[in-house]
Amino acid sequence: MRAWPEVYIPALPSRFSLPQLRLFNTESQKVEPLPRKDRYRIYVCGITPYDATHLGHAATYLTFDLVQRYLRATGAHVDFVQNITDIDDPLLERAARDGVDWQSLALSQIELFKGDMSDLHVIPPKDYIGVVEAMPLVVQAIEKLVAAGTTYSVDSDMYFRVRSDPDFGDRSHYPLDKMVTIFAERGGDPQREGKEDSLDALVWLSQRRDEPGWESPFGEGRPGWHIECCAIALHYLVPDSNDEYAIDIQGGGSDLIFPHHEMSAAQSRMISGQKFARSYVHTGMVGLNGEKMSKSLGNLVFVSTLIKDGVEPSAIRWALMNSHFANDVMWEHTLIEKASDEISRLRLQLARMEVAPTDVVIEKMIESLSRNLDTPRALDAIRDWMNATESGATGGAAGELSRALDTLLGLAL
Ligand code: ZN
Repeated sequence: MRAWPEVYIPALPSRFSLPQLRLFNTESQKVEPLPRKDRYRIYVCGITPYDATHLGHAATYLTFDLVQRYLRATGAHVDFVQNITDIDDPLLERAARDGVDWQSLALSQIELFKGDMSDLHVIPPKDYIGVVEAMPLVVQAIEKLVAAGTTYSVDSDMYFRVRSDPDFGDRSHYPLDKMVTIFAERGGDPQREGKEDSLDALVWLSQRRDEPGWESPFGEGRPGWHIECCAIALHYLVPDSNDEYAIDIQGGGSDLIFPHHEMSAAQSRMISGQKFARSYVHTGMVGLNGEKMSKSLGNLVFVSTLIKDGVEPSAIRWALMNSHFANDVMWEHTLIEKASDEISRLRLQLARMEVAPTDVVIEKMIESLSRNLDTPRALDAIRDWMNATESGATGGAAGELSRALDTLLGLAL
């Protein structure tokens, strides 16, 4: 699938040095430095295209955009791959509910998402891959799981033995009862009779009545969710077999910690023999009116609606960066009003002939980002600079700061 258009990223002047990027790794439960490398491999789980981009999505993709911007600014090459879950139960259910064809529903929502990402100035992935187009790869990945003796059948469906991976559970750190509960809430079937372990993951679902199916050596059907991302990541990110890990970062919202990322990592390990990700990075949830923003509650704030209402995309970025990526946040409309005011103020300051010293603010932005993407601190440094400029301080180069805001924070003002 074609991604959205490429984003131009200005270079930082070489006198700025970038410390190693430190990120909170869900697996180790610690903030850890990413090793310095020439090439990073990042996989971020994409949308299920049945509702347009809401602020929770925007917060997630913005976070990994900041990771990419930082790593690229170190001079490294970043291979970034994202999927689209364009065949899945919720998509089929929504299409049936609305009496529309599931493929046209998916295509229309994918187009909207791409438009939103482009508006938000998010760097597009190198490969933007729909599950449907990746079906042969997914089937090959399942064949490898079969060859490794990690699968079994229940009726005509196929399951992966999660305990084949000795480290199963170590990336998410949930006790067993919590795993079972969450698994049931997030598409799993712990109660199904005939399973060897209630947590075993579906890898191939035989074709059901009135549902689409694809041919495979395991009969007609469609894949389970976790094997899709695993197959796409391992193929398109081309792991280095000399590395202990197949990829550097597996990213997504914190609702993917379990079961999705745990299961993908376990399957990947059985396929490649390598550990899956060096770091598992998860973004917090965005809520509205005291509740998590979710499709089922119907309390979504869409990026496209905000933009249609006249909100600048950079104000949406600013409002989201005002909170730390890992924290759950409650969205309020005042946040976007305040962000719009601050963006206007910043633009005015950047247009002045004389501005406060800028090297120090660029250095603070770099340092804050290197510390687990501390964007609230980076924004405070910019506010301090605006205050100093308004107070008449001089000696800075507005053009250089303007470019650095784009390079590091994606604010093209
Ligand atoms: Zn995924």
